[in-house]
Amino acid sequence: MPLRLYSSLGKAEREFRPIVPGTVKMYVCGVTPYDVTHLGHAFSYVQFDTLRRYLTFLGNDVRYVQNITDIDDDMIMVSKRQGGRPIAEIRDENDAIFRADLDRLNVLRPTAYPFATDHVPQIIETTQRIIDAGCGYVVDGDVFFEAEKFEGYGRLNGVTIAELAKRENPESKREWKKRGPLDFLLWQQVDPGDPSWDSPWGPGRPGWSIECTAMSQTHLGEQIDIHGGGRDLVFPHHENEIAQAECSTGKQPFCGWWMHNGMLQLDGVKMSKSLGNLVLARHLMAEFEPDHLRLYLLTNHYRVDANYVDGDMAALKDRYGRLKRALAVEPASAGSPGVFETFTEELNEDFNTPVALQVLDSAAARIVAGTAGRAEQAGLRGALSILGFAFAGARGPANGDFDP
Ligand SMILES: [Zn+2]
Repeated sequence: MPLRLYSSLGKAEREFRPIVPGTVKMYVCGVTPYDVTHLGHAFSYVQFDTLRRYLTFLGNDVRYVQNITDIDDDMIMVSKRQGGRPIAEIRDENDAIFRADLDRLNVLRPTAYPFATDHVPQIIETTQRIIDAGCGYVVDGDVFFEAEKFEGYGRLNGVTIAELAKRENPESKREWKKRGPLDFLLWQQVDPGDPSWDSPWGPGRPGWSIECTAMSQTHLGEQIDIHGGGRDLVFPHHENEIAQAECSTGKQPFCGWWMHNGMLQLDGVKMSKSLGNLVLARHLMAEFEPDHLRLYLLTNHYRVDANYVDGDMAALKDRYGRLKRALAVEPASAGSPGVFETFTEELNEDFNTPVALQVLDSAAARIVAGTAGRAEQAGLRGALSILGFAFAGARGPANGDFDP
């Protein structure tokens, strides 16, 4: 059975076929580096890293782009709070910690890792194309996208514009200037003293969603195969990305598979800074090996709202130890093949890592018990390597390989 992946657009699973056979263009929304990153980020980036590895194993040349949103309301707020500290300094400090965490988790570096502030000319150019195509309008230095002008706005969320307009919307700035409630900023005027760039509409800075569209177009072209991100980005960010991309290029679809990971919870509550219930990957890796944490994250399917409770890591201790031991023992027999094939069959079913790991658990148990041989061990090693485990020899930063 070939690989089938679920797309949020259409809410269905389909056989995965990239636009150009043998190449996969993949964009995953990155972080806004104004603060520390938590376990929810690790969940998302380990899942997409593992998918990237599997797509590579299947013979694809995967181009993986992940951005850094280094200019937005939060970055400006933190800069002000720190006495006008340069945003680039705040970005670099938090980004270094974020990358170090992901390196320890053996997450492969992105093929391209663009900063929004390095793409202002492309953002301005994309905004201009949207205006020229009739979907953008200018009001006194601000540029808006007119949602009603884009046929199919709401498609990703599977609801009508009227229903979307009732939802809580973080793009609700400048209400008095907008033609419609769902219109959002492509370019915005700034408060005096805030970072700004020159543009045809006067000095200002980019809106939020346009950054991803410009960076995606710059590094991957007009159409891509997979767009990933947390499920909290489906509205409005990703709905806006579709509208911007398709309006500015005239090409449909912008993206073949919209893949959204679930929201990691702590004791049943969504992890967030405002609630103060953050668990940091860094803290867990002080107590447990990074591969142990990787195992925990992958025992959850990427689409579920995984619920972390204290003790979850300790509970995996035996399982983790057995997987490692199964690679270290010297099997007495040749064994029989099949482990690896069963493993890939499970991954082909919408990347079902929890069930694929159960296949590996039982193989490991048989190897350790002496009832399986070298073939099972080779299958186990290959599978664990595809899942990115450094102890199984998977390439990546944890094994000193920092190349994308
Ligand atoms: Zn994005």
